Amino acid sequence: KKFVYFFGDNQTEGSNKMKHLLGGKGANLAEMANLGVPVPPGFTISTEACVLYMKNNDYPEGMWDEIDKNIDKLEKSTGKKFGDPENPLLSSVRSGAPISMPGMMDTVLNLGLNDETVRGLAKRTDNEWFAYDSYRRFIMMFSDVVLGIDTNEFENLIQQKKDELGVTEDTELDTNTMKDLVEEFKSVYKEKTGSDFPQEIKQQLKMAINAVFNSWNNERAKKYRQLNDISDELGTAVNVQAMVFGNMGETSGTGVAFTRNPATGEKEFYGEYLTNAQGEDVVAGIRTPKSIQALKENMPDVYKQLDDITQKLEQHYKDMQDIEFTIEKGKLYMLQTRNAKRTAAAALKVAVDMVYENLINKKEAVMRLKPSQIDQVLHPMIDPDSELELLSSGLAASPGAAVGKVVFSAEHAEEMAQNNEDVILVRTETSPEDIGGMHAAKGVLTVRGGMTSHAAVVARGMGKPCVCGCDGISIDMNKGVFTAKGYSINEGECISIDGSEGKIYMGEAELKMPNVSGELETMLQWADEIRSLNVRTNADTPEDAKLARDFGAEGIGLCRTEHMFFGEERIPVVREMIMADNKEDREKALQKLQPMQKDDFLDIFRAMDGYPITIRLLDPPLHEFLPNYEDLIEKIKKLESEGGKQEEIKRVNDLLRNVDTLKETNPMLGHRGCRLGITYPEIYEMQIKAIIEAACELSSEGTNVIPEIMIPLVSNEKELDFVKKTVTDTAESVMNEKGTNIDYLCGTMIELPRAALTADKIAKGAEFFSFGTNDLTQTTFGYSRDDAGKFLPLYIDKGILESDPFAVLDQEGVGELMKIGIDKGRSSRPDIKMGICGEHGGDPESISFSYEAGLNYVSCSPYRVPIARLASAQAVL
Ligand code: ADP
Ligand code: MG
Ligand code: MG
Repeated sequence: KKFVYFFGDNQTEGSNKMKHLLGGKGANLAEMANLGVPVPPGFTISTEACVLYMKNNDYPEGMWDEIDKNIDKLEKSTGKKFGDPENPLLSSVRSGAPISMPGMMDTVLNLGLNDETVRGLAKRTDNEWFAYDSYRRFIMMFSDVVLGIDTNEFENLIQQKKDELGVTEDTELDTNTMKDLVEEFKSVYKEKTGSDFPQEIKQQLKMAINAVFNSWNNERAKKYRQLNDISDELGTAVNVQAMVFGNMGETSGTGVAFTRNPATGEKEFYGEYLTNAQGEDVVAGIRTPKSIQALKENMPDVYKQLDDITQKLEQHYKDMQDIEFTIEKGKLYMLQTRNAKRTAAAALKVAVDMVYENLINKKEAVMRLKPSQIDQVLHPMIDPDSELELLSSGLAASPGAAVGKVVFSAEHAEEMAQNNEDVILVRTETSPEDIGGMHAAKGVLTVRGGMTSHAAVVARGMGKPCVCGCDGISIDMNKGVFTAKGYSINEGECISIDGSEGKIYMGEAELKMPNVSGELETMLQWADEIRSLNVRTNADTPEDAKLARDFGAEGIGLCRTEHMFFGEERIPVVREMIMADNKEDREKALQKLQPMQKDDFLDIFRAMDGYPITIRLLDPPLHEFLPNYEDLIEKIKKLESEGGKQEEIKRVNDLLRNVDTLKETNPMLGHRGCRLGITYPEIYEMQIKAIIEAACELSSEGTNVIPEIMIPLVSNEKELDFVKKTVTDTAESVMNEKGTNIDYLCGTMIELPRAALTADKIAKGAEFFSFGTNDLTQTTFGYSRDDAGKFLPLYIDKGILESDPFAVLDQEGVGELMKIGIDKGRSSRPDIKMGICGEHGGDPESISFSYEAGLNYVSCSPYRVPIARLASAQAVL
């Protein structure tokens, strides 16, 4: 079994196709070497070796032999040797998992230095400063990564030296100081570990490889995988790569760049670099980096070469690349390339642009955007008309706006978010330890760091608004306050941040939705060309119906008529209806309600001209329209003590009696849905009249109305038959009266297990099915939706459930019932129309299931319509 793969020097063994084995970094290093891009040579130890090491707690057999052979190769290729005092080979040891995990796994640079080779390096390069700068970096990184020693120990020593010398930058420390630091660092190492800093290079290497393997299971890596649904079984590869040095003076440097702007997707070469610096200096925000445009001026040849290489890489990968490079004395090396993380807006723009550039086709473009990213494009922004005090500006690191209370620590952010508080995490800079807090926060604000700093990269990945490098503010952690422009903002006070503009405001801003951009329209049109599922919306009001139409909804899949009962001027009439002692009184009240319902339908029909509208007859139990029992008791007490009018007391008492009569032990399973329509047919009659009258009127005006009347909570075909008779009789008589004919359908919800199991019988009477997966989930699991919050989180935590079945369709159980319902329904009515309403209609996974199961449409809330359009196209591909 082969565990080690060489790259570089025309001997590359791997390729981009081997990500699973070599990790993303290793596979791409190999690919770049294959493409003839200048990459320092090295070798990759496979993820398989890591997995075996973790499983057996020991190295797989033969791994070290292979490593030795590859070291030989590397030494030949570079002409240097590990531990050679004359010409020492130095290497980096870099982790790289199959899925990129930024900042999660640690890298050691300059491995191969010891007291002897450092002198050799100094002599060979004729640069003592550089050699000792590299050595002190190595000791610190090695201590940190391999032994977990707190880097503050070292940082403090560096700061001390800077203070003594009165300088601010690491690069201003002189050679002797670097030498002193090396000695002091070694002492820290000895103090913390009890042993001397390892001088044996093979031992250094072994310890470092070990650390990379083990880092797969460190807390922050585990947390990242958990948050991003990455399997723990993948393991990480280890890359051992010859060092190139960006810290050899002013003609050397290191940087990171993107082939396009990762925030906006704009096609522009975008990046940052530092001269005389190594590795992570850019990302860590130690010094503020220069823009890549400065490189164009300072080293035009290198810039040109870099630009050419990155364009070649983008053409090759057919995707935006995120690259790392180092310049050693004017010579350029590429150290990493990968498909760049980007904001949702950038993902959208890049995908659409690349189709126009003929790099990818429409189908590929449609697959480039996660449905959830559409949510982010539809992110709120600060209302431009709001007048707020600008506190400070920084970099627009991740778009969208957020409002929340200031918190200064990740833990605190997590705590407050648990209590449903909106918070903004404010930090000097973030590190991987802050991931949990960043996730919990509505937005992130940092004082230091550039567009590629940890905070920026992670926030973009999370789709969280973020402002970085906001050096106009200063934080006093001890006092729990930050100051800006003379204002002091305490922890717990509200601020607003705008990650699209890089601005911070005092107080709570009004947030507003951005206009759906042209690219989104284009992308969704491509999705529409591909998908076969129709996308409808759940809308109860004309406003929602219009909004959904703008988002591209092709009809309404669920219009809940009870929402029309709740209006301020309607509730008294509804109560009158409920409290009527006899049918006559009830009909009187219903007659008052009918024109109100009709008005609503008129507007909804107009908004959905030409598209079908599924209208569900009244579903909830009647007590929902009455006031709360305890409130009424209070009210009576108050009226009596204040000597209120007898009439009023009697009225409230009547109400109370009614509430009492209607009270149910388990209203979810009680007197609701078609059961109401059967006991009080006049209620449904009124609703049907309102629907058909509205339809007739509009139809004669030339509006194309397609009503689908839906009977809820049917479990038995006889219920359906009973209510359907009310529907047809009423509709018939209205149409006769109006002299107009309306093509309407009459169908039912499938939302009870018995309905799914007897769908063949039900389909004889029903012209369509709509799977009401909220109730179906409730009744299949026997979980009350209103009470499940007490145990569902624990269930998910303990792994009893993978996810909340009310959010993500339970395909195994509820989905199985749906399939039975679909099959049986089609067996007795082959052309029956079927859809899904309920929360699941907007969830990408559930949409894909709905497609596979053969539904005709999904229906979801208006804002999820674009998501559903994309997800149903992706379901086909
Ligand atoms: P990360 O995944 O955190 O980016 P990397 O392994 O890519 O970690 O490395 C961290 C930094 O060290 C990067 O800036 C990278 O370019 C730099 N680096 C890694 N290997 C070498 C090398 N052989 N020579 C010079 N710089 C290197
Ligand atoms: Mg990197
Ligand atoms: Mg229901």
